[in-house]
Amino acid sequence: MRRIIVWFRRDLRLADNPALLAALDEDAEILPAWIDTRDDEGDWPPGEASQWWLHHSLEALGNALGRRGSRLIVRGGPAMAAIRDLVAETGADAVFWNRLYEPHAVARDSEIKRWLNDQDLTVRSFSASLLVEPWRVATDADKPYRVFSPFWRKAKKQIAARPPTAAPDTLRGPSDWPASLSLADLKLLPTMDWADGFGSHWTPGEAGGHAALEQFIEAALGEYATAREVPAVAGSSKLSPHLHFGELSPDQVWSAVASHLPVAGNDAEHYLRELGWREFAHHVLYHFPETPSRPLNDRYADFPWRKDHGDMLGAWQQGRTGLPIVDAGMRQLWQTGWMHNRVRMIVASLLVKNIRAPWQAGAHWFWDTLVDADLASNTLGWQWAAGCGADAAPYFRIFNPVRQGEKFDAQGSYVRRWVPELAKMPDKWIHQPWAAPEKVLAQAGITLGRDYPRPVIDLARSRDEALTALKALST
Ligand SMILES: Cc1cc2nc3c(=O)[nH]c(=O)nc-3n(C[C@H](O)[C@H](O)[C@H](O)COP(=O)(O)OP(=O)(O)OC[C@H]3O[C@@H](n4cnc5c(N)ncnc54)[C@H](O)[C@@H]3O)c2cc1C
Repeated sequence: MRRIIVWFRRDLRLADNPALLAALDEDAEILPAWIDTRDDEGDWPPGEASQWWLHHSLEALGNALGRRGSRLIVRGGPAMAAIRDLVAETGADAVFWNRLYEPHAVARDSEIKRWLNDQDLTVRSFSASLLVEPWRVATDADKPYRVFSPFWRKAKKQIAARPPTAAPDTLRGPSDWPASLSLADLKLLPTMDWADGFGSHWTPGEAGGHAALEQFIEAALGEYATAREVPAVAGSSKLSPHLHFGELSPDQVWSAVASHLPVAGNDAEHYLRELGWREFAHHVLYHFPETPSRPLNDRYADFPWRKDHGDMLGAWQQGRTGLPIVDAGMRQLWQTGWMHNRVRMIVASLLVKNIRAPWQAGAHWFWDTLVDADLASNTLGWQWAAGCGADAAPYFRIFNPVRQGEKFDAQGSYVRRWVPELAKMPDKWIHQPWAAPEKVLAQAGITLGRDYPRPVIDLARSRDEALTALKALST
């Protein structure tokens, strides 16, 4: 009987999983495996919040396999050694996996593919985490895209309406299972207790992903286009970690949302376009693999970052900048592992443009604290905010956190939720307590510098300084 190793990576699902499906199509015993590749992942092994998610997602996958008469074989890395050992121990004659697009993964997988080919073993890889492979979309001059809209116009035409496949009822395994590490051996859970609260916000795993998708479609899709901009309401899908870990396939999400196009036209269309940004992020990372650390636009490598930004970076990380919408976002991130997209843009703009800390410092903090930390999307988001990446914000766009707060959190509900010390501030002053009259502050029980910080930066002056520096680069 043939034996196929199905190597699970960031496709932690049984439904709509092409590598698994292909293995099921063969008359073979299936060996589902997961390898701890943290040491293979260069500068970007999963951060602490991602590891929390991974632990629970692997647990869910192991249980789902167990219910089907199978199991998850967990091995330590590096991946090449683990695959060699597994092949030797099990006599497997094939290895199947779904593709990843990060530069380190592409290099590693190519090497493993070569080795398997050299051994005359079958190796097959599949597309499972993108709607369109990054190399299938190119400009008319056969170049990668750097701007979203034309990319999306072309990419969209290639999306085949493919009905997602269901999870198998059973999986045939060997009678002699190879050894496996336990999940606890991997020590994925943070040693500090800061992630303990995440469990009340998230259900990692395939079932949790489907529940979140259904809940979003039922409760929020119909108003997505407007509600997605309001951080105080649950207006977006929060599917980003489920998509990142492949608990849901983009095809599953696409087809579920697209089936509502007749009733939720504009909103559903808008949502599908956001999935397009995810595709674009992967396209850019695939074609410009140096961008996690270097600006896409070389000119910005010379940007004069402020040398003494250390304390302000610390205040930003802790949600103690004295700028309420920024602090609310950074505390939401710390407490839940996620931050609203609008607020991500605001906090990123403050860090790179007003504080003038390098965008890479912000990207690293997000990398460690986001449950949806994704090299492609995080790099795109930070380079966008810094103005140095693909489809970047024009250099003169510097978000004013006060105006942004007044516009998108007019009643201050988001700030009140995450910065409770400001709960009693009236709407008029909640986004700029430092400008409020003494009497108002006293009535709200706030002494600035004691109960809530004064702003770490002068918004107007730092804006002018950034504009001068940016203008010099852009000419
Ligand atoms: C500085 C910065 C850093 C970011 N870092 C990440 C990151 O590490 N991981 C990540 O998944 N997203 C990142 N984003 C993009 C975006 O903020 C999140 O995808 C979104 O907030 C996730 O929430 P949601 O699932 O409710 O989104 P929804 O509004 O429900 O969107 C649906 C899906 O579309 C995708 N999507 C939406 N917007 C974007 C976008 N701008 N870029 C790429 N994909 C998008 C996500 O997969 C998302 O789940 C970042 C944005 C910024 C400005």
